[in-house]
Amino acid sequence: MSLIVQKYGGSSVADAESIKRVAKRIVEARKAGNDVVVAVSAMGDTTDDLLDLAHEVAPIPAPRELDMLLTSGERISMALLAMAIKSQGYDARSFTGSQAGMITDATHGAARIVEVTPVRLREALDEGAIVIVAGFQGFSRDTRDITTLGRGGSDTTAVALAAALEADVCEIYTDVDGIFTSDPRVVPNAKKIARITSEEMLELAASGAKVLHIRAVEYARRHKVKLHVRSSFTHDEGTIVYDPAWAEGEENMEEAIIAGVATDLSEAKITVVGVPDVPGVAAKIFTTVAKTNANVDMIVQNVSAATTGRTDISFTLPKGEGERALTALSNEKASLGFEGLQYDDQIGKLSLVGNAMRSNAGVSARLFEALFEAGINIEMISTSEIRISVVTRADTVSAAARAVHTAFELDGDAEAVVHGGTGR
Ligand code: ADP
Ligand code: ASP
Ligand code: MG
Repeated sequence: MSLIVQKYGGSSVADAESIKRVAKRIVEARKAGNDVVVAVSAMGDTTDDLLDLAHEVAPIPAPRELDMLLTSGERISMALLAMAIKSQGYDARSFTGSQAGMITDATHGAARIVEVTPVRLREALDEGAIVIVAGFQGFSRDTRDITTLGRGGSDTTAVALAAALEADVCEIYTDVDGIFTSDPRVVPNAKKIARITSEEMLELAASGAKVLHIRAVEYARRHKVKLHVRSSFTHDEGTIVYDPAWAEGEENMEEAIIAGVATDLSEAKITVVGVPDVPGVAAKIFTTVAKTNANVDMIVQNVSAATTGRTDISFTLPKGEGERALTALSNEKASLGFEGLQYDDQIGKLSLVGNAMRSNAGVSARLFEALFEAGINIEMISTSEIRISVVTRADTVSAAARAVHTAFELDGDAEAVVHGGTGR
């Protein structure tokens, strides 16, 4: 008997009909002779709606209470899903994150899993039940409080369950047919990828491709969990995420390829204007920013003007962290000696990912050429071993993605199907 972990995202359980459809699919897996453990997200846009509600009653909601609120979304879907399965004649039991033994640290809104103790899940499985677990949530032993794993965290719940229960496969069911060469909502003729290395998927997720939670990919890589990302709306094969280091028979799959193009509209740019061009200033600026726990992404320092001996330093960070960083820098204006600060939240980031970059020097030239031909101005550039990212104006990043997708011959013949979801 195999053990399968399945995860259903919000768009797959958006209403009562969808929940019944998903229940049927889970029962099919059980009927085929498998033990089945399911991680489920909140229905549709519930999490966003709850967040909006929280901000209506408090400008900065208390993190502990926000987690209490947001975890209620998954409680609704888990109970409804278990009921739907039971009414189809199969035993099912739902569990909250804490009942499932999802032990995390105490960081509200971005908790890390420290241990999984699925004692109650094993008992339920032994008694023949289908197990449904609320995604995205855990419990801190230190504070005895409920935590959440960060937006999109139900993927990580599923992978952690698969690792702890030594599942044969972890299936991530979503509203598209798998992982594509770009977000089908941005590049309609993106192609489905049959297999992708976890290294490439990590870079895509870090670059804004929200089809998988980045921590789920990291966790799967560390614990050797094979992921299958697929649609809950069809029975087609989706995309396998594997690690060539441990996936048997996959060694030869690692050809030099471009895996895909990702876009990200979630960052803003801060420019520190008129910084004295002397050693130690960058260190002081970024120490000040680091104290606010900001996740700085790209950094560019201009050449200093010979007449003034001053320069500008720009960096990007998530929009939600911009205000804190600006305040911290303003407070240190005298000691840092800069002339002014600029904040720009109308930027977009485009990233090209693939292991072809390791060996093929022409990749960046081709990328810049494609952007030039599309009339798109590049404001910042950064690279890693298998990724090139550029910052453009926010309203040009989708056109940029389509141009780059075509230039690297990634276009498919047909339009990719988006089965559901609002893309929120
Ligand atoms: P779920 O609610 O099932 O977790 P998400 O909305 O979190 O679904 O993730 C699925 C969405 O990810 C898709 O609808 C698609 O718009 C987006 N996406 C971004 N990049 C990609 C990509 N490279 N391949 C497939 N989907 C992508
Ligand atoms: N419901 C949570 C969110 O919307 C977790 C998830 O869906 O993965 O972020
Ligand atoms: Mg998701």
